[in-house]
Amino acid sequence: MSTTYRLGVLEGDGIGPEIVPAAVEIATAAARATGTTLDWVTLPLGASSIDTHGTPVPDETKAALDGLDGWYLGPHDSVSYPEPHKSDLNPSGTLRKHFQLFANIRPAKSFPGATAVCDNADLVIVRENTEGFYADRNTFAGTGEFMPTPDTAIMLGIITREATERVARVAFDLARSRRKKLTIVHKANVLKLTTGLFRTVCQEVAKEYPDVAVDDFHIDAMTVHLVRRAQDFDVIVTENMFGDILSDLAGEISGSLGTAPSINASADRAMAQASHGSAPDIDGQDIANPVAMILSGAMLFEWLAARHDDPAPAKAAKIIEAGVARTIASGTSTRDLGGSATTTEFTTAVIKAIEAGA
Ligand code: ATP
Ligand code: MG
Repeated sequence: MSTTYRLGVLEGDGIGPEIVPAAVEIATAAARATGTTLDWVTLPLGASSIDTHGTPVPDETKAALDGLDGWYLGPHDSVSYPEPHKSDLNPSGTLRKHFQLFANIRPAKSFPGATAVCDNADLVIVRENTEGFYADRNTFAGTGEFMPTPDTAIMLGIITREATERVARVAFDLARSRRKKLTIVHKANVLKLTTGLFRTVCQEVAKEYPDVAVDDFHIDAMTVHLVRRAQDFDVIVTENMFGDILSDLAGEISGSLGTAPSINASADRAMAQASHGSAPDIDGQDIANPVAMILSGAMLFEWLAARHDDPAPAKAAKIIEAGVARTIASGTSTRDLGGSATTTEFTTAVIKAIEAGA
């Protein structure tokens, strides 16, 4: 008997209501083609939810997500929210924290047919999502920054063995399923204790994966290597802030912001989330590129396949990826990739490619 996956749909702000439904339609077509049963649950989140529920992240949304296998999260534009919501932790931060989605997994893969700095990159960045130098995500006391006097600001960072081990295992498992290469990124020559511990713990976990080749670089050197030879890297594991910066760089050199997908995962839940923001400058015009959101969905299906040891969602993921790749390679793409297709036209073309057995 096949498993039914219950997935949430959180459209979010800006171009969210355009790209999230597009990604859901494509996932539905891929699920149909592979015998994967999906049950979609639409839930309020973001600016529209402030009007209807008085908050961008209603408790009922969190409670409903608790019972689901995963969800699609649209982008949000929290700087435009009225106070007090503007100062709150943003919706994705709130959900990452609430569900302890400790691994942010961001691939950077060049598309045949799309112009990019590097046309043969195929790497994945695994970013630790709960610790490091990001105040609002720190697990200790909730305050990573403080000002002892009005003219002095101090930042704290935290790295723990426990959080490093769990994210390292996600990265090594991923490397094992790919080209079996893992790069640890740190700054152990300056941030000796914190990022030094991160490197040490990753190297200890490496002993459980003798089949994976491991190297490591300082974050500054790594930016140079990525620009010069992104194609040589497979899986990169790093702490929160380095991962944030590095994944924007990797995403940009391998394609456009509109194509960079991600998931945020714990051991038992995953959230599909495009790497880009809500793009308020182009919302409502049917020109946004839905690819990042579509491929984030494919990543969620791959994650479901591994979590439930079920080949059906893995097949759906492959079909989604192939449908997108074939559509772009055949010359249909949105404006940001140099094409002229609308969001709707691109989505229809991918569904056609899937139905034709892409
Ligand atoms: P955030 O702080 O939410 O990450 P941001 O300021 O980084 O937002 P984005 O919303 O990601 O900005 O947009 C940056 C630029 O990229 C904008 O010009 C936007 O139109 C463009 N952009 C972002 N996503 C897409 C997309 N899916 N399709 C086309 N263009 C996009
Ligand atoms: Mg941004």
